[in-house]
Amino acid sequence: MARIEAVEAGLYRIPLEAALSDSTHGVMTAFELVTVRLRDADGAAGVGYTYTTGRNGRAIYATLTEEIGGIVPGMDADRIEAIWTKVWWALHYGGRGGAATFAQSALDIALHDLKAKRAHLPLWKLLGGNDPAVPCYAGGIDLDLDVAALLKQTDGNLQKGFRAIKMKVGRERMSEDVAKVAAMRQHLGDGFPLMVDANMKWTTDEAIRRARAFAPYDLVWLEEPTIPDDVAGHARIAREGGIPIATGENFRTLWEFKQMIAVGGVSFPEPDVTNCGGVTVFMKVAHLAEAHNLPVTSHGAHDVTVHLLAACPNRSYLEAHGFGLDRYIAAPLAIADGRATAGDAPGHGIEFDWKGLEQLRS
Ligand SMILES: [Mg+2]
Repeated sequence: MARIEAVEAGLYRIPLEAALSDSTHGVMTAFELVTVRLRDADGAAGVGYTYTTGRNGRAIYATLTEEIGGIVPGMDADRIEAIWTKVWWALHYGGRGGAATFAQSALDIALHDLKAKRAHLPLWKLLGGNDPAVPCYAGGIDLDLDVAALLKQTDGNLQKGFRAIKMKVGRERMSEDVAKVAAMRQHLGDGFPLMVDANMKWTTDEAIRRARAFAPYDLVWLEEPTIPDDVAGHARIAREGGIPIATGENFRTLWEFKQMIAVGGVSFPEPDVTNCGGVTVFMKVAHLAEAHNLPVTSHGAHDVTVHLLAACPNRSYLEAHGFGLDRYIAAPLAIADGRATAGDAPGHGIEFDWKGLEQLRS
């Protein structure tokens, strides 16, 4: 048995190379990174992480050190479902989402890394092994960019190898959004996969109004048109807006995905492995989507997530998210001809530059 010996957490503040902006979070200048390092009794190690848009990192770090660090030592690292259930119920009353679920997600990623390393398999093969080459899109966090800056950023993304792009919408006036989407469509040409993301900005009625205005531009999806809590609203937007809907980066449980899928409120479920409950929950969401004949996409943490989507026959696009972490990873995700490829090294293959991170400890 692979008995867990120790859980070590770290909290870091990662400055962004350029400020990011969207309709909900405003201007972002730094992300927080919270890491987990697990060691088992045989000396094998697993690494996991989660991140925030700048706040709550200390609560996540405290949950890992004060709570999870006292719960999981001594447990069998190969019994990931048992560990997940124990941690979930231990933290449930004050948790059930939020910082507790971010912490649990980081732990769960580390457990899967450890298990895959012990099995001498890359994570994508441990989880099912469909196809390592995953279509990938550039997730622009660019609401504040004017048309010229947006097109310049787009040319940079095309040069980097992207063959699908997402842009932010949610400007004050609908005409501003439409003008930017129209300019992007014209720039990219017919058939180039283009998505838009509203970051929960609108009411249901406003989302339907804007979705209809975007309809001529052949979008792959409209993401997070309204708050994640409005399940019935999503069903209306999907039905009346005329554009496929992606959502899920702000869902914190498997059951939130189930409710949204059950009412037809989402066309592209979009879990984030670092906040939905980890690899355990991400894979359940992916399989739930498959059973409903839906593709699955992703949010954030592209270096872990490429393995999860590589495991799934119903995988859609992987989101590549530029949030500054690449500078602290030994071999950051490479994109070629629109695809990212899950590696063949055991585990998820992410090696942090711990020395470099030490300067950013928070
Ligand atoms: Mg989004």
